[in-house]
Amino acid sequence: MRVAKDTVVGLEYTLKDDKGNVLDASGDRGPMEYLHGAQNIIPGLEQGVEGLAAGDTKSVVVPPQLAYGEYNEKLLQNVPLERFGTHPVAVGMRFHAETNLGMRELLIKQINGQEVILDGNHPLAGQTLHFDIKVTSVRAAELTELAHGHPHQEGGCCGGSGGGCGCGSSEGSCCSSEGGEGCGCHSEAASQEKQGGCGSEGCGCGH
Ligand SMILES: [Zn+2]
Repeated sequence: MRVAKDTVVGLEYTLKDDKGNVLDASGDRGPMEYLHGAQNIIPGLEQGVEGLAAGDTKSVVVPPQLAYGEYNEKLLQNVPLERFGTHPVAVGMRFHAETNLGMRELLIKQINGQEVILDGNHPLAGQTLHFDIKVTSVRAAELTELAHGHPHQEGGCCGGSGGGCGCGSSEGSCCSSEGGEGCGCHSEAASQEKQGGCGSEGCGCGH
């Protein structure tokens, strides 16, 4: 079977930046599983996997526009230091906050006296990503997986040992209740749809 829309794909991968630094790898976690054609992973990687079969290996280079987007200066904002109250503030810290674009992960980019510059860009925005991938499995998706828009692993929806949504994100599993935004790697629309579909299947995620 070859990778196509509505197949569940197991993928081992190593992700490097332009300089060859390893940013992420499936490694000891084992292959990640995702539902092909459901925006579980970035578009450029999905395109690269299309048509492969189990056992195939490939190098896929993904430009920013097919990954996490170009770096957007408009996502920089200045806030007064006093807004942080007693919270520790240091350059390089990341935290989640409600913004006018919804819940986002923000980076403290710079501190100028009493002013803090926050960066709402994805950490990989503007970067060309280099994936070395190996397809470990390809199977037809179950109907409930299609309805939810993500693969189910041992234990069903959001359960089991595989880390929930199987998209390889470490930013939270698909049914993380924090902010109700789901896994950080999905578009808002996709995760809303998914939350709507979870209810009757006993996934225990509270939606
Ligand atoms: Zn599910």
